[in-house]
Amino acid sequence: AHHHQIVIVGAGAAGIAVASSLLARRKDIDVALVDPAPEHFYQPGWTLVGGGVFTADQTRRELASLIPRGASLIEARVSGFAPEARQVILSDGRRIGYDKLVVAPGLKLDWQGIEGLAQSLGRNGVTSNYRHDLAPYTWDLVRQRRGGTALFTQPPMPIKCAGAPQKAMYLSCHAWERAGTLGDTRVEFLNAGQALFGVADYVPPLMEYVRRYGISLSFGHSLKRIDGDARTAWFQTAGPDGDTQLVERRFDMIHVVPPQVAPDFIRSSVLADKAGWLDVHAETLRHARFPEIYGAGDVLGTGNAKTAAAARKQAPIVAVNLLRDMGRIQTPYPAVYDGYGSCPLTVERGKIVLAEFGYGGKRLPSFPAWLIDDRKPSRLAWLLKEKILPPVYWRAMLRGRELLVKPRLAPVQD
Ligand code: FAD
Repeated sequence: AHHHQIVIVGAGAAGIAVASSLLARRKDIDVALVDPAPEHFYQPGWTLVGGGVFTADQTRRELASLIPRGASLIEARVSGFAPEARQVILSDGRRIGYDKLVVAPGLKLDWQGIEGLAQSLGRNGVTSNYRHDLAPYTWDLVRQRRGGTALFTQPPMPIKCAGAPQKAMYLSCHAWERAGTLGDTRVEFLNAGQALFGVADYVPPLMEYVRRYGISLSFGHSLKRIDGDARTAWFQTAGPDGDTQLVERRFDMIHVVPPQVAPDFIRSSVLADKAGWLDVHAETLRHARFPEIYGAGDVLGTGNAKTAAAARKQAPIVAVNLLRDMGRIQTPYPAVYDGYGSCPLTVERGKIVLAEFGYGGKRLPSFPAWLIDDRKPSRLAWLLKEKILPPVYWRAMLRGRELLVKPRLAPVQD
């Protein structure tokens, strides 16, 4: 079997950032990324594709072009783990040995989890910004819509970028407001959860936009079935006695966010926690049972917001801790992750509520309030999202240039 010092499963936002962070610290280590995908996507840009600001092409790069100098790319799918033998198993049966492993395959969008959805998407007004090829269809629908009923759905938590379902809605509403058709449009947000946003501090500024756009909120509504030809969707709700019922909604347009689960090969592995996610220590990101394994990105069972912003902060933490375990850097304590994640809520074209928070919903703003007040819609935060964050992603985060990220070292019990 092939062998590498460090094997990284998944060359997404987290996997590439970890590889680059390692190589930025120690040029001579032997790192291999394993990923079958020919392309890599800047998914945070898809909200702006659906809002008519970016083209879909701007969010896509050839994966091979992003692999850092010094790392190798193995174009294959991982199907399982043999941690006792320190090997990953590929879908073609090959095995790759490692000294240290980083697990970063993201999460699985469960399009099959809603009856009728997979065959409905892309026609009859059924769209989703959660797919690169469909985000442009969202903007087509928004531009063409003249009144009628527009539904926006949100599945149960956890999902990646928990604000994205409502970002799509606010940008659509703002476009209709500018076109003068919002008054003729019935807009409803059907959310499986019970709150507009998980961190209470950000709910009041969002509620101002809910009122301004005349959106009706339906909590505890979980999409179960959709029929695009009949332009009808069915939602499960729980009554006061806990008994469930299906309610029906007709639509002219529906933006669907699919349920999100751990990838099957993680869920079925010995590396998973009870809910199927990767079982790591919340601060060190080291596996709870296999000390030579770390994790990063959306696959983690930790309570942070699943965002690229979180992966940006996690990458140097994993890199420092791995190199420390290998005796390649000396630090008194491991690097610790505070759960940072960020969700730039696009409340209108040109303004963002820049939610930044860590474990337990603790607000962790990167900017002083006089520059960007995280609890108010901000023009500067929009400029950050549209002009600054994409180059930060491509040119800094994926290349191991750690702007504004200094891993904190602290004693932990694990
Ligand atoms: P990904 O980037 O999804 O990469 C996973 C990689 O693993 C892929 O390349 C895949 O091919 C590979 N892989 C999967 N299975 C295997 C396997 N079996 N073997 C080998 N490789 C495998 N984040 C923000 O910070 N801000 C935002 O505003 C924001 N908005 C978003 C809006 C939308 C619509 C979406 C969809 C996401 C948004 N995100 C946002 C979230 C962000 O994109 C993710 O959190 C981030 O991409 C997670 O990185 P990752 O590396 O864990 O997963």
